[in-house]
Amino acid sequence: MPDLEPVILPARQVKLDDSTPGDGMSLRRALPQSRRPRVGAWCFLDHFGPHDLPTGDPGMQVGPHPHIGLQTVTWLLEGELLHRDSLGIEQRIRPGQLNLMSAGNGITHSEESPQDRGKRLHGLQFWIALPDTVRNGDASFEHHAELPQLAFDGMDLTLFIGNALGEQSPATVHSPLVGLDISLVDGGSRHLPLDGNFEHALLVTEGEIVIDGHSLQPGALLFLPRGNGFVNLANASPARLALLGGEPFTEPLVMWWNFVARRHEEIVAAREDWMSGRRFARETGYAGEAISAPEISARLKAR
Ligand code: MN
Repeated sequence: MPDLEPVILPARQVKLDDSTPGDGMSLRRALPQSRRPRVGAWCFLDHFGPHDLPTGDPGMQVGPHPHIGLQTVTWLLEGELLHRDSLGIEQRIRPGQLNLMSAGNGITHSEESPQDRGKRLHGLQFWIALPDTVRNGDASFEHHAELPQLAFDGMDLTLFIGNALGEQSPATVHSPLVGLDISLVDGGSRHLPLDGNFEHALLVTEGEIVIDGHSLQPGALLFLPRGNGFVNLANASPARLALLGGEPFTEPLVMWWNFVARRHEEIVAAREDWMSGRRFARETGYAGEAISAPEISARLKAR
């Protein structure tokens, strides 16, 4: 019998980017973890905020930096961000909208709190590993202002990635996945059907939710192994969570800094290309310096 029991994985408190000048915004990194490097092809998850942004606060300022081999998914709960990239895209994002960037063989982007933004910032940044068949393709960017809104058993759901409850997100992905934002306005207890072929993880973003009997608040991820056909969500007061899932992604990944690849040598080459101005543009229109890559201190292993 496969083990179907949930596993609770505390997130790590980290600074937004050690290479960013100034004091980086602190956030909770829920993926990757040594015990759980990924969930389906979801291989990275940062939960930032909620932060108050008084006038004059720079908010989030992540200068130009490169990516390979992944898609970035930006999902806001409060506030606004401005994405700029080396394709020439400049896209503001607000809650309920999706920014999806496919790095392919290489892209440079920056993300910043625009000056005329609201007074709060709260959101999630995910990475999705690209399968080997498409990871060396061209970079691309999608913004989706309209996404499927679902109501089910007293829950309000937005489907930002993949398939759920017979609906499909318009976002382009390359492996079987789901990404849902779930609001529990009224207190209660209900069952959400899951794809039993997927492994899943749930991250509470607001309030407190009892998930399959385990009380969760912001700061931890609850992993549900493949084979679970539903999950029970119970709450006493308004709460919100993100659910991510996918078929187990079996290609071993080498992840380092902003790069996802298969071999150490690919990461070394991407780092050298970034630092020497090959392959990746250094500019996105961001009014600040590009971010330097750290040194690679040891041979990188696939997981
Ligand atoms: Mn990035």
